[in-house]
Amino acid sequence: DLTDPKLASEAELAFEGALRPRSLAEFVGQTRVRGQLQLLLTAATLQQRTPDHILLAGPPGLGKTTLAMIVAHEAGRPLRMSSGPAIQHAGDLAAVLSSLVPGEVLFIDEIHRMARSAEEMLYLAMEDFRIDIMVGKGAGATSVPLDLSPFTLVGATTRAGLLPNPLRDRFGFTAHLEFYDEAELEQVLARAASMLGLAIDGEAIAEIAGRCRGTPRIANRLLRRVRDYALVHPSTGSGRRADVDAVRAALDLYDVDALGLDRLDRAVMQIILTRFDGGPVGLNTLAVSVGEEAETIEAVVEPFLVRIGLITRTPRGRVATPAAWRHFGLPNGPSEGA
Ligand code: ADP
Repeated sequence: DLTDPKLASEAELAFEGALRPRSLAEFVGQTRVRGQLQLLLTAATLQQRTPDHILLAGPPGLGKTTLAMIVAHEAGRPLRMSSGPAIQHAGDLAAVLSSLVPGEVLFIDEIHRMARSAEEMLYLAMEDFRIDIMVGKGAGATSVPLDLSPFTLVGATTRAGLLPNPLRDRFGFTAHLEFYDEAELEQVLARAASMLGLAIDGEAIAEIAGRCRGTPRIANRLLRRVRDYALVHPSTGSGRRADVDAVRAALDLYDVDALGLDRLDRAVMQIILTRFDGGPVGLNTLAVSVGEEAETIEAVVEPFLVRIGLITRTPRGRVATPAAWRHFGLPNGPSEGA
């Protein structure tokens, strides 16, 4: 599914690597967050200390990993990358923490998926740059304190609310990333097109920007499919040029709809509209109906559907808007007597 923000193929990861902006100045959009990060980094430099721990929260593909790399780069410090799912025991975390060099930036992606025992170890590490390691088993077990090098933790999560309070409170700053607007996505696309050596006009870029779910990762992925299309259907002979017709043909071929909804977005909308007559539908009912975790629905699907005005959240559940009925070509809203 081309518009699934969570997916990234090997080829795409390589392409993403090449496309990642290297500095805050090159990073498009997220103006508030950029300013906040800049201040935090500059203040740390002036005081010659490691920057505070940073939590980056927001849906997949909006630039959390990129920002973590930029933080390390701008602070002139090495970066270590890990992820919540890779830390299943406190020992996994102890191994990483004890091998950090002074001032290193530790990035933990999907930090909300870390094991509970590791989470508790992290509290002390973040606060005092110290951990307690358990040695031995049963009655003879003792805890041995171990000093760590000072480090900056950059955690990423799809939703800050997924973290337990004691962990959330230990970050000096939480950045909430927003979906990108079309002008920003056009900038991301123009940059990627020039790196791909693809000549593409403003109208064609705008068409992609409107259909990429407000997400740079998806924008870049769609651009690659457009590039493929241009190669296979060269309108100018070189195959290095794409116009709006090429964009429409390529995106239609891959079932990317006019709003850029992905398979899961569409499944959720179908359930609300047809099975529940427009809602309200509770989060857990929705999750069970589409066979996904409630967390994914809440952190990945809903924010976008709310942002583009297809659903609203009410105390009794999620409700489809008139725009949703229109987008799915269904007549006049809820049926009589609903
Ligand atoms: P996340 O970690 O939030 O899932 P990434 O940082 O991996 O997202 O971003 C995915 C890709 O999108 C990156 O490789 C980069 O090419 C692109 N990207 C993300 N944010 C921006 C941005 N603000 N400006 C330019 N490109 C971006």
